[in-house]
Amino acid sequence: MSADCLFCKIVAGEIPADVVHETGATLAFRDIGPKAPVHVLVIPKAHHADVAALAVTDPALAGEVLAAAAEVARKEGLLAHGYRTIFNTGGYGGQEVFHVHAHVVGGAPLGPMLSPR
Ligand code: AMP
Ligand code: ZN
Repeated sequence: MSADCLFCKIVAGEIPADVVHETGATLAFRDIGPKAPVHVLVIPKAHHADVAALAVTDPALAGEVLAAAAEVARKEGLLAHGYRTIFNTGGYGGQEVFHVHAHVVGGAPLGPMLSPR
């Protein structure tokens, strides 16, 4: 656990979350500010700052996060129409919480991935 990390506090049960899926090493809970009808965050329980750090430090755990994201999509009924999995990384990537998390979003057409420049 990393001190003052919001998502470590959710893992520890110190901050409540609407958990939709849990494995030994991962936790998935609804985003507090959903950007789509379904918006779930999937995290490793262990603290890693971002997806690049996770991939280097523990690639097997990175695979578990991806598998958990796919399972969340299945449980949330997103497979028929498709969905999006997003890892924001660093400042330009718009990352606000520095405990790696996959956003699983869907439930409606999501539009283009990015606005044209
Ligand atoms: P990012 O910008 O990729 O770091 O995403 C952080 C996400 O965490 C945002 O979509 C927030 O809405 C979400 N978030 C912040 N606090 C909480 C919380 N206590 N429970 C659930 N989601 C949260
Ligand atoms: Zn953390």
